[in-house]
Amino acid sequence: MTKITPQPGIMDIALYQGGQSHVAGVKHVIKLSSNENPFGPSPKAIEAVRDSAATLNRYPSTDHASLRDAIGTRHGLNPARIICGVGSDEVLQFVAQAYAGPGDEVIYTEHGFSMYPIIARMVGATPLMVAEKNRHVDVDNILAAVTDQTRIVFVTNPGNPTSTMIPEAELVRLAEALPQTCLMVVDGAYAEFVADFDGGAALVDRFENVVMTRTFSKIYGLGGMRVGWGYAAQSIIDVLNRVRQPFNLSLTALAAAEAAIRDEDYLTFCHSENARLRVWLSEELAKVGVPSDASCTNFILVRFEDQAEAEACDDYLKTKGLIVRRVAGYNLLNALRITVGDEEACRRVVAAITAFKGGVA
Ligand code: PMP
Repeated sequence: MTKITPQPGIMDIALYQGGQSHVAGVKHVIKLSSNENPFGPSPKAIEAVRDSAATLNRYPSTDHASLRDAIGTRHGLNPARIICGVGSDEVLQFVAQAYAGPGDEVIYTEHGFSMYPIIARMVGATPLMVAEKNRHVDVDNILAAVTDQTRIVFVTNPGNPTSTMIPEAELVRLAEALPQTCLMVVDGAYAEFVADFDGGAALVDRFENVVMTRTFSKIYGLGGMRVGWGYAAQSIIDVLNRVRQPFNLSLTALAAAEAAIRDEDYLTFCHSENARLRVWLSEELAKVGVPSDASCTNFILVRFEDQAEAEACDDYLKTKGLIVRRVAGYNLLNALRITVGDEEACRRVVAAITAFKGGVA
């Protein structure tokens, strides 16, 4: 028996539960459990990946200058204040590594992304969950939980798995009230799905202690490439770069992300198709007694009578080859999260849930 024991707290870290992608005994499945882009990446990103193969003998850029320039151009941001990571997960981790440790507290909200408490524990800090109100982040609840030990507050806007937005004025109120010793991280993984929304960039420019994180995994369809980025005050970016591995992003990932962000036509296509299909999906499901909040994202959170009905529906969908996400682990017991797929996927979901509810599909 080995005498080697892990560091204190390591075994308290929950293993991340990702979206399921297989169903035993079902050959052809449609995966609607991880909020991926059903249309795939931009054809230009695929071409860039192919082209990158010829130079795989070379190390990738350490400073990601070309990708940061492309992000800066697209969003009107100073590239020097951008940092890139292996998914936005890694950027969130940089923040925790650099700013929190044993004895510190990290606040996240009841239905917040499950990586926040995992990341807090990874650095030895204590995660503290704060209640939401009717699936909306409640700023007063957050402020009531802040102590002298609070180092980071994570909020997601729009939320996952709630799909709801935090009003701008509420975020300003939160940023204004937080002590200067506490960072506020605005996670904008789904920001691109909201029309005319800066994802929190203006907040970063106004408040020194606000960090915005973004991802290429959602609207850009590059979940498999693992590219995310953060935007913050120069002083914070300078700190975060010290905990970043020099070659954290592969040459291929950098090429794909840069080509994707430069392809604005494809982005517009994905945005409008998602908006159209999302509205149709939620309206059709509401008609058969399965309501959802108005969604600002590429998924909807549908509600059932109770947890038993939500789970029975999930089981039924699986028999039809449709994999959606259970969210009981996010304190949403009677709900399922369904990624907005392509037209065929949406039609199949509506037909299956209609049949489940006893209607004719
Ligand atoms: N934040 C939120 C709210 C998410 O839903 C996700 C992905 N599920 C992430 C961050 C991490 O995304 P990635 O690491 O793929 O950029």
